[in-house]
Amino acid sequence: MLRCNDYIFAESLEEAYELNQKKNNVIVAGNGWLKLRKRQWGTVIDISRLCLDKITENDEEFRIGAMVCLSDIENHKELNDYTDGAVKESLRHIVGTQFRNCVTLGGSIFGRFGFSDVLSMFIVMDSYVELYKGGIVPMHEFAKMPYDDDILVSIIVKKKPLRLAYSSFRNQSTDFPVVTCAVAIGEDIITTAIGARPAKADIRTDGIDACRDLKDYAKKTAESFDYESNMRASAEYRRHIAEVLIKRTVEKIEVRYGNQIMDK
Ligand SMILES: Cc1cc2nc3c(=O)[nH]c(=O)nc-3n(C[C@H](O)[C@H](O)[C@H](O)COP(=O)(O)OP(=O)(O)OC[C@H]3O[C@@H](n4cnc5c(N)ncnc54)[C@H](O)[C@@H]3O)c2cc1C
Repeated sequence: MLRCNDYIFAESLEEAYELNQKKNNVIVAGNGWLKLRKRQWGTVIDISRLCLDKITENDEEFRIGAMVCLSDIENHKELNDYTDGAVKESLRHIVGTQFRNCVTLGGSIFGRFGFSDVLSMFIVMDSYVELYKGGIVPMHEFAKMPYDDDILVSIIVKKKPLRLAYSSFRNQSTDFPVVTCAVAIGEDIITTAIGARPAKADIRTDGIDACRDLKDYAKKTAESFDYESNMRASAEYRRHIAEVLIKRTVEKIEVRYGNQIMDK
C-alpha cells in the first residue's frame, strides 16, 4: 500500500521536478512497483495530468510519453509493425492484462529493474530517454546511470532499419523472467541484449559476420555477460539459457527473412 503524508497532482513538469528534489518525496506512475515498498513518503507526486500518455510518430521516430501504459504499447500497430511484433512479445508475459493496463513505460524504464523485459527490449533498439533536466540520453547509457531525482518525460525510438526479435524464459508464466533476450540486426551490425541475469539488461554489439556461425556467436555472447544465482535459477543455468535464447532469437529473424537477414 502507498503510504504518504500528502498526495499532489503536479500541474507542470517544473512543479513535479521541484517537489521531487526532497528526499522523502516520490513520483508515482502506475503504482505497480511503488506500492510494494514499505515506506512512509512525504509527498507523492502524481504526474498523470501532464499529458504524458500519448504515443506520437513521424518519419524518423516514435515518441512514447512516460505515462503510456504497457498495454497501449503492446497494442500499438505501428510500433509492432516496426519491431516485427517484438515489443508485443516482450510485454505480453508481464503479469496480466489488467496489470499492464495500469503500469507505465516511464515507471518500467526509470526503475531499471534487474528483471525487466521492458528495458531488455528497448535497450536493443536505437532508443533514448528524455529527462526533464538531463536532456536526451541513449537508453544503454541511462541504464547504467545512478538513480537521481530527475523526471523521465518520454522514450524515443528512432526508426533505424532493424530486424528485431525478443524471447524470454520463465519458470512459470507471469512470473519474473529467468533470462530475457532481445536481438536487433542492422545493416552491418548485430546487437544482443541479455537481461534478468538477474542484473539489468546490457548489450553486446558485433559486426554482422560474427553471427554467421550462430552456435559460436550464441556461446561467445552468452559467456560475455555476468550471471548471478537467486531463488529462480543458478548463475550457470542462466548462462546456458542465455545461449539457447540468443540462438533461438536470431533464428526467429532468420525464419522471417531467410537469406536476407544480412542484406538489409
Ligand atoms: C508483481 C510484479 C511483477 C512484475 N513482473 C514484471 C515482469 O515480469 N517483467 C517486467 O519487465 N516488469 C515486471 N514488473 C514491473 C512492472 O512492469 C512495472 O515496470 C513497474 O510496476 C513500474 O511501473 P509503474 O508504472 O507501476 O511505476 P511506479 O511503481 O509508479 O514507479 C516505479 C518507480 O519509478 C519512478 N518513476 C515512475 N515514473 C517516473 C517518471 N516518469 N520519472 C521519474 N521517476 C519515475 C517512481 O518514483 C518509482 O520509484 C512487475 C511488477 C510487479 C509489481
